Amino acid sequence: MDHLSSEPAVLTYLDHGATTPLRPEVAEAMAEVTSEPLGNPTGSHRPAQRARRLLEEARDEVAALMDRDPGQIIFTSGGTESANLAVFGTLAGLHRDGSTAAIVCSAVEHPAVLESCRAAALEGAVRLNEVPVDSAGVIALNALTDLVDVDTQLVAIMLANNETGVMQPLADVVEAVRRKNDATRIFTDAVQAASFVDLAEQTRGCDLVALSAHKLGGPVGVGVLAEWMPSGIAARQYGGGQERERRSGTQNVVGAVGMATALRFAAAEREDAAERVAGLRDALAEGLCAAIPDAVRTIAPGVATLAGHLHLCIPGVEREELLVLMGERGICASGGSSCASGALQTSHVLAAMGVADGLSRGAIRFTLGHATTPGDVERAVTLVPGLVDQIRQGS
Ligand code: PLP
Repeated sequence: MDHLSSEPAVLTYLDHGATTPLRPEVAEAMAEVTSEPLGNPTGSHRPAQRARRLLEEARDEVAALMDRDPGQIIFTSGGTESANLAVFGTLAGLHRDGSTAAIVCSAVEHPAVLESCRAAALEGAVRLNEVPVDSAGVIALNALTDLVDVDTQLVAIMLANNETGVMQPLADVVEAVRRKNDATRIFTDAVQAASFVDLAEQTRGCDLVALSAHKLGGPVGVGVLAEWMPSGIAARQYGGGQERERRSGTQNVVGAVGMATALRFAAAEREDAAERVAGLRDALAEGLCAAIPDAVRTIAPGVATLAGHLHLCIPGVEREELLVLMGERGICASGGSSCASGALQTSHVLAAMGVADGLSRGAIRFTLGHATTPGDVERAVTLVPGLVDQIRQGS
């Protein structure tokens, strides 16, 4: 893993859910783009034409991998912008005829979606209903169905949860929503899932899908909002009218090429990677749970999750303390939910699942990915239990 910081000397990176190391192939493709003059894609000279060609090739590739038309792909600055555009753009774009508008989202959405929905509800006097989840973190489909009515303009249900990796039954959601209100727009945040699932198949029927390049081996600062015509979203950012008037601003051509390349490699390797990474994740779970017998695997093995997620709650341990000790030894994981300052907050996901406060204080999220090796797992299994003991003996 020499592409990661060399301090401390050995790095065991088990935090792919936070961000993934840039794939060397993506770095190469991006370097190639900047090896010759690159203009603004809206211009008419040769470097501008080159930029436009590269941007449109990237768009074509993303569209093909998602089974959408190129015109349905909007490049954004990342998952957060895509989520904001999906929520606010949908509400602004749909003609309300003075009727009441309503949004339905799951209680376990990433803050990019949840806070957008809450802000939209406050600003626009929109009714917001949050769908509860069961103890495994799976949405209550009956409750969702009951909440959708003639006023519901948007339903936002993520494909897979960022903290736990739990997958939502999206095909059932699409069917249930369509049965209640065919005009409702369905938005799914597929940011965490994109490395491990067939996006075309898993997001079929959704009007809007959000992706972020840095979660799948691509660069930070570029994402996608894929539409399904006619989604009817209105721009949230005005200016030169780029991205077919839906997202103004000079396009990030290098980022778009990085996004397309990352998605291509993720799609090509997906099946093998999911099997390999799930095997490593299970070995990590077994090793840690054997050495820390009272550790709780938050999501039981039978529940559908992403291949790389392992969520543990370790009683008697403050996750911040454990994360710091792990970090000092070069073992990178996370507490699942962090705010901008890096401080850990109480997880709204675990709270929605009914996990007791005492347990969720010891919640650690290990996320494995394309760069994870058996050596990483072995090192974590060797070192983490001793650190847990150290904390427990000190307290
Ligand atoms: N949605 C999910 C599920 C995420 O995990 C993240 C990032 O953590 C985001 C949205 C936001 O993506 P970005 O970091 O590209 O803004």
